[in-house]
Amino acid sequence: MMFDLQSALNQSEFVCFLTGAGVSTASGIPGFRSATGVYSDHPEYSLSVDNLRAHPAAFHDFMVNNMYYPDARPNVIHQRMATIANRKGTVVTQNIDGLDRQAGTNHLVEFHGNEYDLYCEQCGQQFTLPEYKQSYTHQNDGGNIRPRIVLYGEPIPTTTVQAAITAVTRADLLVVVGTSLVVYPFAGLLKYASHTASIVAVNKTPLPLPAGAHMVTGDATAVFAQLH
Ligand SMILES: [Zn+2]
Repeated sequence: MMFDLQSALNQSEFVCFLTGAGVSTASGIPGFRSATGVYSDHPEYSLSVDNLRAHPAAFHDFMVNNMYYPDARPNVIHQRMATIANRKGTVVTQNIDGLDRQAGTNHLVEFHGNEYDLYCEQCGQQFTLPEYKQSYTHQNDGGNIRPRIVLYGEPIPTTTVQAAITAVTRADLLVVVGTSLVVYPFAGLLKYASHTASIVAVNKTPLPLPAGAHMVTGDATAVFAQLH
């Protein structure tokens, strides 16, 4: 029998959604690997702190040419999660596309940051995407303008990790969407789940699950469109 996600959500006192790239594909944002694979043989280097430091122009080119979809809008998955989390929960996302924020999610942990948070490393001033597209150098002080995202080779900020752990620990229902449960970083976070919490994964095809977890097999857009 299929796990009844609607009943679980109704009964839950605190829901933690754990999401990844699959949630944003319905908004027209390709997964990191499919997006970057087209343009680069070394996507992980392109998005590394080593590249940012050694080749700031190449890093900037890569970001502005491959990573931004400013016309993308939240889809029904983002919207339903926002409604539920604003009432009784938190969304913890690996996505840097800002769509959960755009959907009005107030209780949100952007685990890998938000690519629209652009700032000068020298003075901290904020910049818009059009400004960043024009130049990665802050004219006033020569500082490097960068997105506040976790690059390869950079640690996830401690406050972010703590916020995610707090949400996972508090939840009596964990819903994993658009990502796998068994791969870093969420596999690590799930260790903090209460042993009485229900863990559910929504995915088009069955995923390897930790012991005791439930699977809702189906297109996440269709599954979430049914929720209220
Ligand atoms: Zn500056």
